[in-house]
Amino acid sequence: MVKWQPVLLANVHRPNSEKIATYLDHGGYESLRKALKMSPEEIISEVKASGLRGRGGAGFPTGVKWSFISKDAPVKYLAVNTDEGEPGTFKDRLIVERDPHSILEGVIISAYAVGANRAFVYIRGEFFLGVKRWIKAISDAYQHGFLGKDILGSGFDLDVTVHRGAGAYICGEETAMIESLEGKRGIPRSKPPYPAQKGLWEKPTIVQNVETLSNIPHIILNGAKWYSGIGTEKSKGMKIFCVSGHVNSPGNFELPLGTPLREIIYEHAGGIRMGHDIKAIIPGGSSTPIISAERIAVPMAFETLQAAGTALGTGAIIVMDETTDMVEVIRRTTRFFVHESCGKCLPCRLGGKQMLNLLENLSAGKGSMKDIDDLEYLAKGIYGKTFCPLGTGMAEPVLSALRLFRDDFEKKITTH
Ligand code: SF4
Repeated sequence: MVKWQPVLLANVHRPNSEKIATYLDHGGYESLRKALKMSPEEIISEVKASGLRGRGGAGFPTGVKWSFISKDAPVKYLAVNTDEGEPGTFKDRLIVERDPHSILEGVIISAYAVGANRAFVYIRGEFFLGVKRWIKAISDAYQHGFLGKDILGSGFDLDVTVHRGAGAYICGEETAMIESLEGKRGIPRSKPPYPAQKGLWEKPTIVQNVETLSNIPHIILNGAKWYSGIGTEKSKGMKIFCVSGHVNSPGNFELPLGTPLREIIYEHAGGIRMGHDIKAIIPGGSSTPIISAERIAVPMAFETLQAAGTALGTGAIIVMDETTDMVEVIRRTTRFFVHESCGKCLPCRLGGKQMLNLLENLSAGKGSMKDIDDLEYLAKGIYGKTFCPLGTGMAEPVLSALRLFRDDFEKKITTH
């Protein structure tokens, strides 16, 4: 087995890793110096050639997204999505708290590439330490000439503002985040127009996730060829996998995309607690379809997980052993999504509540076989029919659990 050295998490375990002095001592901002000598078009081509795909869940190619932004628009924005809120996902928080300059360097290079002179960091309200770390990093970057007017004598100006959210999961959806940044209630907008055409205050806006941005300095410094040599054909680069649940050593593990799920669970996360067997795995965060233990060999990449009927999502792997009650898992997951629904569209707003009612009844031993059928009927009615992906993300775990573990639901009826 090839042992990979961390790239994105190379700094996080160093003492005082969040400080600018530590970052500079380990080659920090060298990539920015190199980028500012390149043209914005050269940077976009390099990022395109690297094959980097967004790490926030959708996996859209980053360089392609950047190329959609109008060159001629006089005002453009970059928005940094630090609203990580999906149960099981805790990778961006680690980078923000322990290595904020690595993201900031990616922000400055990305803003230069797309021609934005203003960037907004949207951060989840509960990330108190993360907010402090972002603000301190930005203030130190200004003092060192990495932000503000004429950055490192390049003629490029950039100001960065931190905006705290109020803990709404939906604000992690890019258009809801834009609404919230504009001071409105965070509810999704219809797409098209996409933010790259019409985003913040109707100006072209690139929205990127923290982990995505932290890849940028490495791509510029080491080149697209180096980067595209890591991973699989359609999933390039390193990925931070957050592993939680019934494993002996939960945590963040940075590995190449395409690493088999089995290796992540057994070699990196210490295997299953107390010698139990795996029953089910959520491979990409709570909104991705559940898979059974039979899929343990699947390579963790966009295309292979899609072929396995699920998704890479945020790379948040939740492992459940054979003692797990799937009805309870689905009841809790659904309760989360119902609580976080913004209420804009009916299938999510009402369908979600009805599913939760049925799940609570089943969980309490008061359900019937018809309730299981009704649950499936509702989940199918929500899937793919909602205004934003939250509704479909709520239906996916229900449908996959019913497909794979219907017995668990039926036992709730026969044993009570
Ligand atoms: Fe709001 Fe849910 Fe509809 Fe998304 S799917 S717009 S969260 S009600």
